Amino acid sequence: MVAEQLRARGIADERIIQAMARVPRHEFTPSPYRDQAYEDHPLPIGQGQTISQPYIVALMLEALAVKPDDKVLEVGTGSGYVTALLAELAAEVFSIERHARLAEEARAILARLGYRNVRPFVGDGSQGLPEHAPYDAILVSAAALKLPPALVAQLAEGGRMIIPVGPGDAQQLQLVTIRNGQPQVQLRELCRFVPLVEDEP
Ligand code: SAH
Repeated sequence: MVAEQLRARGIADERIIQAMARVPRHEFTPSPYRDQAYEDHPLPIGQGQTISQPYIVALMLEALAVKPDDKVLEVGTGSGYVTALLAELAAEVFSIERHARLAEEARAILARLGYRNVRPFVGDGSQGLPEHAPYDAILVSAAALKLPPALVAQLAEGGRMIIPVGPGDAQQLQLVTIRNGQPQVQLRELCRFVPLVEDEP
């Protein structure tokens, strides 16, 4: 996976390469698909959701430029795979998932693998997690129709957010950076994620 899907396609950040070599992706893959855990595509994890394709995860992590002392928010814990990668790269990871069952399964696997710097939450992550803001980095694993203002507001000065934006078949990653208090948006790769579901207030 690391050689053929990541390095060969230009992923060069050694911290990310090492983290992706270390985190056992099969542990986060449901048993019917475990033999495909290191293949180049997303896989079902139940509740109509998927564990993201390794290459797109690497692209998102590279864009986010997570530093060892960063406080990170992840929206859409899903399997917990990206949570584990963020836990390897950052000091503290807050992760929120709206499906209680997925959140509980991910929590159990992350605990079993010994990640102690992860704090899992159940809820609507489109509103972020204001009680622990601001964040140095925010990674969103589900596609929003437009940039969620609550998430932009929870970024620290110099903070970065990577988020897929757009409808089903026309999504693009956006990298938001806060400079002098203002969000700057950079359009990145095209992508395909499950939708970010916003719960009614
Ligand atoms: N990075 C995860 C991706 C899981 S798919 C992985 O590789 O396993 C995206 C996840 O976002 C799904 O689990 C879905 O339930 C969750 N999600 C969608 N809308 C959400 C919201 N508003 N708040 C929190 N989680 C959400």
